[in-house]
Amino acid sequence: MNAKIIDGKAIALEQRAMIRAEVSELVERHSLKPGLAVVLVGEDPASKVYVRNKEIATRKAGMESFAHRLPANTGQEDLLALIEKLNHDSGVHGILVQLPLPDHLDSQTIIEAIDPRKDVDGLHPVNAGYLLSGQKGHVPCTPKGSIVLAKSAASDLTGMEAVVVGRSVLVGKPVAQLLLNENCTVTIAHSRTKNLEDVVGRADLLVAAVGRPEMIRGDWIKKGAIVIDVGINRVPDPQEEGKHKLVGDVAYEEAIEVAGAITPVPGGVGPMTIAMLLANTLDAARGQFQGNPD
Ligand code: NDP
Repeated sequence: MNAKIIDGKAIALEQRAMIRAEVSELVERHSLKPGLAVVLVGEDPASKVYVRNKEIATRKAGMESFAHRLPANTGQEDLLALIEKLNHDSGVHGILVQLPLPDHLDSQTIIEAIDPRKDVDGLHPVNAGYLLSGQKGHVPCTPKGSIVLAKSAASDLTGMEAVVVGRSVLVGKPVAQLLLNENCTVTIAHSRTKNLEDVVGRADLLVAAVGRPEMIRGDWIKKGAIVIDVGINRVPDPQEEGKHKLVGDVAYEEAIEVAGAITPVPGGVGPMTIAMLLANTLDAARGQFQGNPD
């Protein structure tokens, strides 16, 4: 094994400890307790776990957590009315609507109803626009966490050939933009890319956000590359019948032989997502504070 393993769990814990310290200072000096409202519609088991974890992490950071669990048949107007209420609630600095929403709800309209200053998921078009135009706004959590991990392996990414596999609004596109901001030369690959293997082989820094288990093989990867594996795929566990395990989009056991540094799955990008959500909520609270939080 050659690669340095990028320990996302440990880095996320460090980040969360820093955030907790900053929150406690805000509470002490300004009686400002950042508040995060998480809205869950329906009973999707994975979403329920994510929301629960977000609530626990928010409280652990010393922030206020407001969970709104709504039945699966909640109508668009009722959901919009709740968002409007949260937009005007001064104790709520961040609003996150857990995706995916049930099919009868229009996710885009719901996201666009969130006050961009409270859009801690960074999915509102205003925040996407800020990212594109290089202005300060909320950056989506998983892409933001991916960059922190890449920079833990090489503090300066300037001039690197970066290849992002995946062009989703949630991950691929924002990660590519952030890499451009770090002065990388960025290629975005997707399902129509020709000779994907060759494109991946050019990368000094590879971000995989595809959603296909172990699609990117070790012999595609350039020797010494930094590999950030965003993929989370549930596959049958060959060791235990009837059980499942999580794997990334990169064939990890092969990739550790060639990469310079790599994130594992689980324990890589995943834990960073919640840490960055807390960071965005802290920023949102500061931004909405009337006085001078410094
Ligand atoms: P999407 O399904 O929205 O996007 C997948 C992207 O991969 C698309 O752009 C698609 O291309 C591309 N793609 C699909 N098949 C291929 C292929 N054969 N070759 C090249 N590109 C391909 O997924 P997300 O971006 O939302 O998520 C990606 C992965 O990251 C998933 O495994 C997801 O679970 C994980 N994830 C992890 C998070 C975390 O906290 N760690 C958070 C969010 C996501 P095209 O556009 O052409 O269809």
